[in-house]
Amino acid sequence: SETKAPIQAPNEVQSAVQTVVKVIRAQQQFVRSGATRPVEFRLRQLERLKAAIARYETRILEALQQDLRKPELEGYSTEVGYAYDSIGYVMKRLKQWVKPERVRTPLTHVGSSSYIYREPYGSALIIGPFNYPFMLVIDPLIGAIAAGNAAIVKPSEYTPHVSGVIAEMLGEYFDPGYIQVMEGGQEVTSALIHAPLDFIFFTGSIQVGKIVMAAAAEHLVPVVLELGGKSPCIVDHEADLDLAAQRIVWGKFLNTGQTCVAPDYVLVHESVKAELIAKMKAQITAFYGEDPQQSPDYGRIVNERHWNRLMGLVDSSKVAVGGTGEREDLYLAPTIMENVSWEDQVMQEEIFGPILPVLDYQVLDTALRNIGERPKPLALYLFTSNSRTERKVMESVSFGGGCINDTIMHLVSPYLPFGGVGSSGMGAYHGRYSFETFSHRKSVLKKSTRVNLSFIYPPYTAGKLKL
Ligand code: NAD
Repeated sequence: SETKAPIQAPNEVQSAVQTVVKVIRAQQQFVRSGATRPVEFRLRQLERLKAAIARYETRILEALQQDLRKPELEGYSTEVGYAYDSIGYVMKRLKQWVKPERVRTPLTHVGSSSYIYREPYGSALIIGPFNYPFMLVIDPLIGAIAAGNAAIVKPSEYTPHVSGVIAEMLGEYFDPGYIQVMEGGQEVTSALIHAPLDFIFFTGSIQVGKIVMAAAAEHLVPVVLELGGKSPCIVDHEADLDLAAQRIVWGKFLNTGQTCVAPDYVLVHESVKAELIAKMKAQITAFYGEDPQQSPDYGRIVNERHWNRLMGLVDSSKVAVGGTGEREDLYLAPTIMENVSWEDQVMQEEIFGPILPVLDYQVLDTALRNIGERPKPLALYLFTSNSRTERKVMESVSFGGGCINDTIMHLVSPYLPFGGVGSSGMGAYHGRYSFETFSHRKSVLKKSTRVNLSFIYPPYTAGKLKL
């Protein structure tokens, strides 16, 4: 498994922290000045962000091609177009969301009223991963802006072209005292996470998530962690196997398996295993042709380190489909492995690449117990036509979110909060939840000046105690 460099001691990053602190102070002052409070300001900034993306759209799509060989249509639908939709959704509703919310007041405070004010935290740091390098910093940024925060954006250094375009785009359209991009690797991130920010929104691996949370603890900075893990995909004997094969193959090999909610492995009822594998194999050919390396619709692994790691997970004696690759091209064929056991290497870490292990089960309870004994996954998918099976799975396993009879698609809905649980993360966003996540809920009781229950105050006389 890959190793990450250990956290730098705070004194080693101190001078870098000083530089970062200047940016943070400026941003905090900007938010404190009240400039970001009016909803009109926020709407203007969202409009501006949309205009910036529109102007840079071609370059963003090119950069996605350069860094990940992402097909243009995929780049558009999962990154750029997604961002437009997200901005549009928020803009339509923001005026309603920002209003102080009046809530009920207990009878003990008769004559009083209660409100929840949503206020910005201040300067929010957004750290992104490499796999959807544009969308996974821009979508949280939309939430940060909507909630009235200033933001520092740190895109992944593994996708340098996309990172560069984001820096140029946001640099051109926004003042750094409001939104600032900081590019770079671990040194930059270390300095950032040790600084006295007001909020950190991190998307990435479990391992780095822990580093971020530990650093955030120094200044008690609240964190949202959008992490990963091994997301199971259960296919029971009452599933529509054609649909299951199509939707699993699509969800797994989209972005070459480098999707946080990709089905990591399939758990199939043994009676339909052979049929499912045959159908998935046919589906791979239907999507990417006889030679996926030549397909314009199939991407590449982000870098050689990940390519080596992934190739190390392929056990050639268990390969049912694919299993080959070409390092120079960072190509790894869509791969299915069969007869895999829970002990195999491929089942010990998040795969995050185009390798799909298939395990089978005879009794659903055993499969569910196996999932339940492992870290809580970010996603879970179930293919079945039986509503009792559906209920059983939904009620017995904890996971971030998922789909019944599909993969990935739950994250596209702005009505569903997207996030992990346990080691797959904490906090959630999308749609209104993005606004909520980047807002502090300030509770205010407006007390009546006419009604005064003086018996609650000392001295606590015997007469009062009887009341
Ligand atoms: P990563 O954790 O390696 O990197 C994420 C960010 O952390 C990068 O910007 C990187 O610069 C920074 N970083 C790396 N090492 C660091 C260190 N030692 N100290 C401080 N910062 C550091 O993740 P990745 O490889 O880019 O992305 C893949 C992971 O992200 C997978 O585990 C995947 O499941 C997860 N992911 C989760 C979601 C989600 O929404 N839950 C989405 C996409 C990816």
